[in-house]
Amino acid sequence: MDKCSFCGRSKKDVNILIAGVSGHICDSCIDQAHQIILEEFKQKESFDINSIKLLKPKEINAFLDQYVIGQDEAKKVLSVAVYNHYKRLAQKDTKDDVEIEKSNIVMIGETGTGKTLLARTIAKMLHVPFTIVDATVLTEAGYVGEDIETILTRLLQVADYDVQAAEKGIVFIDEIDKISRKSDNPSITRDVSGEGVQQGLLKLLEGSVVNVPPQGGRKHPDQKMIPVNTRDILFIAGGAFDGIEQKIGNRLNTKMVGYSASKDKDLIDRGNLLQYIAPQDLKAFGLIPEIIGRLPVLTYLESLDRETLKNILTEPKNSILKQYEKLFRMDGIELTFDKKVLDFIVDKAVEFKLGARGLRSICEAIMVDAMYEMPSTKETALHITLNYAKKRISTTNMKKLRVA
Ligand code: ADP
Repeated sequence: MDKCSFCGRSKKDVNILIAGVSGHICDSCIDQAHQIILEEFKQKESFDINSIKLLKPKEINAFLDQYVIGQDEAKKVLSVAVYNHYKRLAQKDTKDDVEIEKSNIVMIGETGTGKTLLARTIAKMLHVPFTIVDATVLTEAGYVGEDIETILTRLLQVADYDVQAAEKGIVFIDEIDKISRKSDNPSITRDVSGEGVQQGLLKLLEGSVVNVPPQGGRKHPDQKMIPVNTRDILFIAGGAFDGIEQKIGNRLNTKMVGYSASKDKDLIDRGNLLQYIAPQDLKAFGLIPEIIGRLPVLTYLESLDRETLKNILTEPKNSILKQYEKLFRMDGIELTFDKKVLDFIVDKAVEFKLGARGLRSICEAIMVDAMYEMPSTKETALHITLNYAKKRISTTNMKKLRVA
């Protein structure tokens, strides 16, 4: 009796049985095989590491411009670093003595100025696995918290456990400033969340084979570890480094004592000291020199002024207002905003010190009633006036927005 060579079911138990040269296959096995092929193609398509298209720095910058407003200096530095990083991967096999070193990046800037957005946009452009980890949850092995290796667990998960793809991914380490050494004396007490974590991060940043628990969590004797080589993973660290301006200021002052002090002083833009950030300021802040050495590309983000906030509302490819317009368009409604509404939203974001992060919650407060009512009406247009926006905000508890 003919049977499916894959599932073993006989001809009478299946709908169709197709004969091959030395076997048979039934319709449900064909179906299953087809699903597997589709899945396989889908994965290949999502992270096809071998076909990373290497854009030139200017092209990378232009891509970033579509999503991130301002931050020209950071964009330039990042574009070059990313270009060099992927060039380094491409050149790995050439035989000369010049080894291009890894260009991990550290970005300094207030929260909500676009650090994560920049890193995420680069990963989007390259189509490589990307994950964000919060440095504050990391602890030295053996303490309560997450082991350093779990950073790579997340990258593996994003890459659907495709180790090769994960090994060319990007990891954004947020709040790197929070693991700075608490005191200048490194060894008074054990510094569980500070220096120990920095030491742990070192081996990841410099490139080594790390045994990663596939499910994360504590290392478990039964869990089969997956070795991941971090040599080609690009690490981008970010942090607000509150108060670092003072360290920069101190350094600039000391440097100037003695020679042409008065002349140089005039050239320093005291309102924006971050632009003078240098590796020694990170050291003064409490990062250990080895970590600083592994993050050779250093850049800063400007704080967002009113004009930039307004542009963030409207300009990026997927700006907040464009998203609302699309939501309404899907209901056949054309949504427009009075120009004054944009200024009002920015005013509120500034007034409540919400920054760019607050723009969305303010918009949401203005729009939620309309989003509730409009789909049930026959209206085809909605114009948001200043009065309407003010009224909506006045009925909103701004404290609620502040937490958002
Ligand atoms: P950070 O990582 O610096 O704390 P994020 O990148 O998470 O800040 O920014 C928070 C949100 O604010 C982003 O999702 C984005 O919507 C918006 N945003 C911040 N800065 C910019 C910018 N320069 N251009 C466009 N949007 C921005």
